Amino acid sequence: MGPRRTVALLLGLLVGCSGSNDPSSAGSSETGSSATAATGESSSTTVELGTDSTALPSSDSSSSGSGTHDETGTGGPHSRCEGELPRWWQDGTVCASEDPIQVHRYDDDTYILRQSLCTSYEGPFMVLLFGDDRVVLEDTGHGGIPIAQTVYGIIDDWLAENGKTSIELVVLNSHAHGDHMQGNGSFMGQPDTTLVPPTVAELSAYFQIDPWPHDIAQLDLGGRVIDIIPIPGHQQAHIALWDESRGLLLTGDTLYPGRLYIGAFETYVQSIHRMVDHLADQEVCWVLGTHIEMTSTPGVDYPFGVQQHPDEHPLELSFEHLVELRDALDAMVTPQYQVHDHFIIYPL
Ligand SMILES: [Zn+2]
Repeated sequence: MGPRRTVALLLGLLVGCSGSNDPSSAGSSETGSSATAATGESSSTTVELGTDSTALPSSDSSSSGSGTHDETGTGGPHSRCEGELPRWWQDGTVCASEDPIQVHRYDDDTYILRQSLCTSYEGPFMVLLFGDDRVVLEDTGHGGIPIAQTVYGIIDDWLAENGKTSIELVVLNSHAHGDHMQGNGSFMGQPDTTLVPPTVAELSAYFQIDPWPHDIAQLDLGGRVIDIIPIPGHQQAHIALWDESRGLLLTGDTLYPGRLYIGAFETYVQSIHRMVDHLADQEVCWVLGTHIEMTSTPGVDYPFGVQQHPDEHPLELSFEHLVELRDALDAMVTPQYQVHDHFIIYPL
C-alpha cells in the first residue's frame, strides 16, 4: 500500500460545457467566451482520499452542463462535463505551503496532477484516468518530485474504494520532452505497470498505429475507451488522448494556455486538423494541455522561465479554442508568431 497522503481538494468551479461542435460556425466565435478566467481567492478544504469521500464536492445539476449520460463508464453512469476543475492551481507564489505535486480529483475516476512551480518553472500537468481494468497516466513530470509514490498511492486508495486488489497502470507521455518524462524511470520494473516509451516506433507498435500519424488507435481501459491521436508538430512523437466518456481532450504541449512552440509547421497544422476532424461530432467538455503560461489577462503571458505565476489563466480550454487555432493556422501564408487571448502561436 502506498502512504496515505493528504491532498488539497480545491473547491471546484463548475461550469457547463458547450453542446455538439460545429467547426464551421465555431471558428468565428469570440475568443474568451469559453475559458473561465480564474477570479477570487482560492478556497480549499483538505480531505484524505479513500477515507472521506463524502467530503468530495457533490455534483450540482444547476451548474453543470447538459451532458448526456454515459451508461458505460466505470463505476456506474457518469454525466459528461460534471467533473470539477479547481478554482486555483498551486502557482509558485508561496512555496512554503505548496506540495511538490498538487493532486486534484476531477471525478471519482479522473485525477489531474500538477508539479509545483517551486520545483520546476515548467509546472507541468499530468492526468490519471481509471477504467475497470486499466489506469492510464499521461506524463511523469520534470523530475525531482515523488511522482511514482504519488501515483501508486492514488491507485492504492482507488483500489480500496472500489473493492479491487490490482489494476494495470499504463504510463504514456504526451511527447518526448524532458519536462513530461523525467519521472518515467521511477515506473520501470514496477509491478502491474506498462511503460510505453515516447517514440514513434514504440507507440506505433504498442497501439498498432498504422500508418503514423494518420491512424487513430484506441486504448480500452475497461468501460472507458481512450482514443490515441498522433499529433506530431511540437515534437514528432506527440499524442493526444480523447476520453469520450468524460468529453476530455488531452492535448499536451500542442494546445494549452501558453506559448505553442511549433517545430514542424505543416505537420503541426495537419495534427490540429486531425483533432478537429476527429471530434467534430463529439461533445468536448474541456481541452486540457500540460502547462499554463498565460496570465488571466488576455494575450499576456509570463516571461519565460519564471517560477511564480500569480493570476494564472485556468488550465482548461474549449473546443472552440482548438478551432480558433486551426483557423488561424490556415490563414497564415507563412508561419507567424501570433498572440491570441488564450494562447500564443509560436513557430520556431
Ligand atoms: Zn512541455
